[in-house]
Amino acid sequence: MLSRPTTPTTNTGMISQARFECTKCGDCCVFAPGEVVWVTAEEVAAIERHLGHPINTKPDGDRRSLVPATLPGHAEPPDAGPCELLDPQTKLCSAYPVRPAQCVSYPFWPSILRSNATWQLEALRCEGIGRGELITEEQLLERLKKAPPGV
Ligand code: SF4
Ligand code: SF4
Repeated sequence: MLSRPTTPTTNTGMISQARFECTKCGDCCVFAPGEVVWVTAEEVAAIERHLGHPINTKPDGDRRSLVPATLPGHAEPPDAGPCELLDPQTKLCSAYPVRPAQCVSYPFWPSILRSNATWQLEALRCEGIGRGELITEEQLLERLKKAPPGV
């Protein structure tokens, strides 16, 4: 089993160092019920240009969100399941170079970095957490800047 040592925290409680290396398992691209990936109009346009065809999105407050892939024989996307942009064969994002900021910044989101507990909890989903080179507090703060509002 992957080792998940407790990491030191800053005065604010946010973790101050971490290890992460993406294994490209694709697990973070499978939505549980209620999970969303927000996209801006600019991100949708960039993804559609990259793919060469329109994508499905749904209204979500003042933003839109990506939807799970629609199952064969169904008109509407399900509430949960793999992102419509996840290639089912390779488990890679078909729009990787232009994927939304929410995906680029994962797992370096305020809601995940805010404590050891939330970081360790996310490791249950993301097997890349706890692997790789040590990321310093300064580097974590730089990565946090790429996270969109609300994550
Ligand atoms: S847009 Fe790409 S990276 Fe983001 S959830 Fe969908 S498949 Fe994953
Ligand atoms: S769950 Fe973690 S390791 Fe797997 S693809 Fe997503 S970021 Fe990479």
